[in-house]
Amino acid sequence: LYRMGDFYELFFQDAVEAAQVLELTLTSRNKNDPEPIPMAGVPHHALNSYLGRLVASGHKVAIAEQKVDESNPKLMTRELVRVVTPGVPWEEGGSVEARMSCWLAGLHGTPRTIFGLAFLDITTGELRMTEVDDLDEAVAELTRMEPRELVISPMLTESPELAVLLPSLAHTAPEISWFDADAGQRALCQVLGTSDLMGFGAHEMTTAVGAAGALISYVRDTARVSLEHVNNLTPYSVSGHMVLDEATRRNLEILRPMRGSGRKGTLLWLLDRSCTAMGGRLLREWLSRPRVDVHAIRRRQDAIEALWDSRLRRVIRESLREVSDLERLASRVGQGSANARDLGALAISLVALPGVFQQLATTKAFEAQLPKDLVQEVAVEIKRWLTEEPPTSLTEGGLIRKGVHEELDRLKHLARDGRKEMALMESRLKESTGISSLKIKHNKVFGYFLEVTHANRSKVPKAWIRKQTLSNAERFITPELKEFEDQVLGADERSRALEYELFRELRDRVAMHVPRIQRLAHAVAYADVIAALAEVAVENRYVRPVVHPGDDLKIIAGRHPVVEAMTGDESFVPNDVVMDENRRLVILTGPNMAGKSTVMRQVALMALMAQIGSFVPAREARIGVCDRIFVRVGASDDLARGRSTFMVEMSETALILNQATSRSLILLDEIGRGTATYDGLAIAWAVAEAVHDRLRARTIFATHYHELTYLGDTRPRACNQHIAVSEWKNQIIFLRTLREGGASKSYGIQCARLAGMPEPVVARAQGLLEKLEEQARSEDGEVQSINVRQLDLFGRAVSDEPTETSPDEMGDMEPIEEEEPVDLIRKMVSEMNPDELSPRQALDLLYQLQDALVLESVEVG
Ligand code: ADP
Repeated sequence: LYRMGDFYELFFQDAVEAAQVLELTLTSRNKNDPEPIPMAGVPHHALNSYLGRLVASGHKVAIAEQKVDESNPKLMTRELVRVVTPGVPWEEGGSVEARMSCWLAGLHGTPRTIFGLAFLDITTGELRMTEVDDLDEAVAELTRMEPRELVISPMLTESPELAVLLPSLAHTAPEISWFDADAGQRALCQVLGTSDLMGFGAHEMTTAVGAAGALISYVRDTARVSLEHVNNLTPYSVSGHMVLDEATRRNLEILRPMRGSGRKGTLLWLLDRSCTAMGGRLLREWLSRPRVDVHAIRRRQDAIEALWDSRLRRVIRESLREVSDLERLASRVGQGSANARDLGALAISLVALPGVFQQLATTKAFEAQLPKDLVQEVAVEIKRWLTEEPPTSLTEGGLIRKGVHEELDRLKHLARDGRKEMALMESRLKESTGISSLKIKHNKVFGYFLEVTHANRSKVPKAWIRKQTLSNAERFITPELKEFEDQVLGADERSRALEYELFRELRDRVAMHVPRIQRLAHAVAYADVIAALAEVAVENRYVRPVVHPGDDLKIIAGRHPVVEAMTGDESFVPNDVVMDENRRLVILTGPNMAGKSTVMRQVALMALMAQIGSFVPAREARIGVCDRIFVRVGASDDLARGRSTFMVEMSETALILNQATSRSLILLDEIGRGTATYDGLAIAWAVAEAVHDRLRARTIFATHYHELTYLGDTRPRACNQHIAVSEWKNQIIFLRTLREGGASKSYGIQCARLAGMPEPVVARAQGLLEKLEEQARSEDGEVQSINVRQLDLFGRAVSDEPTETSPDEMGDMEPIEEEEPVDLIRKMVSEMNPDELSPRQALDLLYQLQDALVLESVEVG
């Protein structure tokens, strides 16, 4: 974007693309040329919103401003001032969400060594880094942090582990020299103002230091953004936290709903009652990184308990609502881009804080976590200097209070009261000269002057300088008058300039306290999240779970937190789930729609909530800390990534078998569903066995393969549970209650009826089911095999039944017309290969066969 007068212009291919993205009119620069240059522009005052849209559409934007050429002041040159990218957004916001961090990530490493990750949030000045042992782990951490952009070592771009991530993430792969550890160390020290990284405990993380160095070059040298506000470096270890892989995050709908956009229906939506944007961001962070350290979890629980009193909580939350985004304000101050309103908001926020922390100090649990330094004198200083409601513009005046600066007051006074001053001077002069008709006047030629009638000429002092003689009067000026004139006329302009200068002085003074404000901001965010979690817990009748280092799990009368909140009524049926050393694997059966997925997810969500320190929706809960939670759903769609659903299901399951430990919590929902019945069952069986025999992780395996209940009955640490339903007049009634033992029936046909499947199809399916069951009963063995070919599917059994179906009853289904129906049926049956049919394909085939049958009955009739 080139600044040209009141516009920012784009040229050539940039113009063509931007015109499309921004819906601009495409013009051209030299219209009469045989090959005119495409051009498009945006008005300069609307830069903000256009930038946001350009960056959101995946572009990086370089901005060139006009500058006067020093050597030839008549010439305008353009100078690159800033590159805006997703990870280094335009500071005026717009594209940055208040309640989301804005991470720019750096990844470095060479195959088969250590991998270093660095994360920088330019909007808050936060810088973190970590190292991991393999690239899968690095990818997992990147997925968890959800960076907006990645600066990646050129050695890694082709790695298969990154194949899924890179296409959907804005990234740059600069030269390898950017990642040099020594250069990175020097750059970091310079930014942080230290001589080494020992104090941060980061000196040995050389790979991560290399990654951080690349981030610094990218932000400072390419994007040209100041790093003045980056004051701290936090090394962290990935291993101190519960691991949630991408599929689990997705399936549990932690931050994002499975379908649609927004937050509704997610755990974040339920829990985020924070009053500040800082709290909102911290809660997100907690949710994507639950703790495994029992003491840390209990500290949070204690703090939540301390805010159980609704009155206390209300007072605290009301004060917190006054608090603006201290982190982002502080970083704008540090970068020198804060305006007067920003400073004003900073002061108001700081002033609100003693109230918050005094209330918190009344509880014991918070004692250790209260900040000692509330940075109050900065608020006092700002309030003393700045006007109550300063304008956004810094050059129009109105920023600085009276009494702050003598010269400024004088200038303002002059500008405002120039005329009055003149009048005063006039009467002063009248008195000293004794010329009662003396007047101070003004015209364009002389400016201000003194006018004396000829009658009084003799009284004019010698020092006055005569300028003009009129018929009845003479005009004079004096040095005093001219000086005064200069001051009055220039006063307004000079007072504005001085205000701006003073404002910058104030901002620079506040900038020295940025690290203190950043520390305080963390304490505010913490208090805010704790108060939010307490609010949710009280409102929804949650209990404090006993989180302990063991590996059992006991939930009495547990509810699904989100389903309960979404339906908003009291109709949710609570259930107990107990998993101890004798019950590591629960085979969960029950018809579709019974509530299997719900009960499993509620267990996972409760474990996760417990490990961020939150209370949980249950009457009683004991949760042994989980090192990982895995949630897998059979045949989930992953069309966006172009992998077959079954492949996805299998690779996600493989990950569990490779990574889960005896401390993990595994929830498998209909694994094996995505393929034909036999191999699906075989895979489900083998996975369940492996989980039980080898991993010993707490596992719930929901399945529609009733055959798996055999495992529940025979394996020592496995059991069967089902979700009860009852039947009434061939209708299914969902009881939503979890009971011991396997389900007796799957009620798929009743479900089909509920779903509105045409009655003839339902009746036909019922008939087929009875046949299949009859056949199954006559055989035995671990896996009861059902030989579909032996079933007299379409022979006498069918024609015995009176067929009363008319084409009308079949609704929209189109009969097949080209071939003789009986031949058609024969052909279809002989051509099909039942072993290769998925349940879905089999159902489709049933429809087609029935269509053909209907045709036959019509012809016969
Ligand atoms: P399944 O996985 O067995 O097919 P789901 O878990 O998807 O069944 O549940 C089906 C529906 O039943 C969901 O819409 C859910 O809202 C509702 N439901 C599930 N469990 C309960 C419960 N305990 N109390 C009330 N409604 C429930």
